[in-house]
Amino acid sequence: MATIAFIGLGNMGVPMAANLVKAGHKVVAFDLVAASRNQAESDGAAIAESAVASVKGAEVVITMLPAGRHVLSVWTDIVPAMGNGTLIIDCSTIDVESAKQAHEFAARHGVASIDAPVSGGTGGARGATLTFMCGGEEEAFAAAKPVLEKMGRKIVHCGGGGAGQAAKICNNMILGISMIAVSEAFSLAEKLGLSHQALFDVASTSSGQCWALTSYCPVPGPVPTSPANNDYKPGFASALMVKDLSLAQDAAKAAGAATPLGKHAQEIYQAFASEGSGDVDFSGIIQHVRHLAAK
Ligand code: NAD
Repeated sequence: MATIAFIGLGNMGVPMAANLVKAGHKVVAFDLVAASRNQAESDGAAIAESAVASVKGAEVVITMLPAGRHVLSVWTDIVPAMGNGTLIIDCSTIDVESAKQAHEFAARHGVASIDAPVSGGTGGARGATLTFMCGGEEEAFAAAKPVLEKMGRKIVHCGGGGAGQAAKICNNMILGISMIAVSEAFSLAEKLGLSHQALFDVASTSSGQCWALTSYCPVPGPVPTSPANNDYKPGFASALMVKDLSLAQDAAKAAGAATPLGKHAQEIYQAFASEGSGDVDFSGIIQHVRHLAAK
């Protein structure tokens, strides 16, 4: 079993680190926030005094941080303190450009690196059922896979450095757009006097079928496990959807890709979050869509 440093003990990091402990790894953890460190300690991790101290003697280092600037700043401190031939894995969702810079920095210091953003949310983190989308060299991926398997169910190698982040924002752009499409369809159905169940029964077995409808239906009833049945508690918060759609827009601009629906979806979720709904599940966007009709 390996010694693993884990930096960034937030909503995702705490349960992910706990699963590594459960799998028998020695986890040395660090976060800026004392309450997060205490939680990780009660889950069985050793706590380091700083990010740099946590990586001393670690064979694998994992970061799970809010954004690209946090990852670059933390990697700048810790990568030079890591041993030659060790491995660093960033599981945060960050912009593709920062991810590539982080890989280049690690390579300059003889440290193997993988970007491995996740899908599956806090439930997936707790249940060790996350999907990891990985970018980096084949050898680094092979070394990362057995560690990621203790926190997730599906581990996909998407290509070279930054490819994991690219896959994540492309997937979430599909999700953001399709949730609005499904919400508009239910909103129109309501105006036309069509019941939620009737639209669901037809669309879920017709060409309108998609994950946003069949697994995460934005109206209560047809899919009992969807957040719509639980007052739109996340799940996946609208603020995080705004973040991912904004990253997709930045990447589209930088790469010269046309994504007009992605841009519009970003604006719609941004408006919803600005109305005080940033911590509402993103499927709650149906409330915003209904409200638009009244304007
Ligand atoms: P979070 O804000 O709960 O946790 C981030 C943690 O990083 C915090 O505890 C913070 O104190 C810590 N941190 C920040 N700067 C630090 C530093 N310099 N050194 C040490 N610790 C530092 O965020 P989260 O929900 O755990 O998400 C983490 C990442 O995973 C984000 O990039 C997010 O977009 C992505 N993600 C989140 C979800 C989700 O459902 N929450 C789902 C998929 C992906």
